[in-house]
Amino acid sequence: MKNIFFTPGPSALYFTAEEHLKKAFKEQVPSISHRSKQFEKIYAEAVSNLKALLNIPEDYHIFFTGSATEIWERIIENCVSRHSFHYVNGAFSQRFYETAQELGRKATAVTVAAGTCANPSADDIPEDAELVAFTHNETSTGAMQPLEDIYKIRQARPHQLIAVDAVSSIPYPEIDYRQIDTAFFSVQKGFGLPAGLGVWIVNDRCIEKSRQLASEGISIGSYHTLPSLLSKGQKNQTPETPNVLNLYLLAKVSDDMLHKGIAQIRRETDYKAALLQHTVEQHPLLSAFVKEKKYQSKTVVVAETGIESSRIIEQLKQQQLIIGSGYGDYKQKHIRIANFPTHSKEQIEMLVDNLTGLKG
Ligand SMILES: *Cc1c(COP(=O)(O)O)cnc(C)c1O
Repeated sequence: MKNIFFTPGPSALYFTAEEHLKKAFKEQVPSISHRSKQFEKIYAEAVSNLKALLNIPEDYHIFFTGSATEIWERIIENCVSRHSFHYVNGAFSQRFYETAQELGRKATAVTVAAGTCANPSADDIPEDAELVAFTHNETSTGAMQPLEDIYKIRQARPHQLIAVDAVSSIPYPEIDYRQIDTAFFSVQKGFGLPAGLGVWIVNDRCIEKSRQLASEGISIGSYHTLPSLLSKGQKNQTPETPNVLNLYLLAKVSDDMLHKGIAQIRRETDYKAALLQHTVEQHPLLSAFVKEKKYQSKTVVVAETGIESSRIIEQLKQQQLIIGSGYGDYKQKHIRIANFPTHSKEQIEMLVDNLTGLKG
């Protein structure tokens, strides 16, 4: 039997990925030119499948990068000349904030305790901030920001750009993209693909902003600027030689998800999340790290452990069930369990049975 990875990224591959990978090798996809018609077709397919699956407006753009980490940097370079504002509630949102500082911007933040989410209000946000950064699902703690909180800021501050890191939640959340300007993810989380490909969704406001910065003589980077990604993207191409194989897999897996149906994926995610949260609540050795139900993530469930978490992780490993440790300082204090579209109800039920049967 193989291991089943419930780690929050990389995670288990989407159950069809291996089959697509074999087909890709048979078709020699890794060797094709990224300037060929065959590549353009793969690119166009990935974009149109993602737009259909995630209900992304036609006039929004989808670009591809090396990772989500890269997108943090590209958003700041292209959309912020002086000042960005960040909601910080864990290691990933903190990293986005620090990226802005490292790029020499003034960055300000409202920071709340790990395991919670801010209750965003326009009063938090300096008038001169050009961009407001949210982390929809803080993977280090399992806290998920309700989308309504983000839309509220859109109403109050329509002139500021809104960026949403949805790396470990997409495709689960039903985001109204009209109420934000940019969102992004990387494929080794919810899409169950090998790491090394970031997906960047942007609207024209972001593109205009990047052009404005460039016209003021501010560096917006080199090959992965928004104008450069756009001019190549309009031809279904990329500025550099991209991860063609992964782009192919993304096109195929998003097509599989379309056939399954996004509503079904969301329903199953809710069911599996409820099962996991219930198990954590009932368990003598576990308790939910995120106390407020409305902030509990559906895609990354984080539990505090009454014993060193490595003892729990090791026991499950004997059963070939691989779960995540706590993040950073919480390494021995938490377990983290991914609940992504590839994790079947049966697999989650098996995990839950084994968690319930743990020896202290
Ligand atoms: C994993 C993760 C990232 C970074 O993704 P990479 O693919 O490693 O660059 C950023 N934000 C969140 C919330 C994540 O979970």
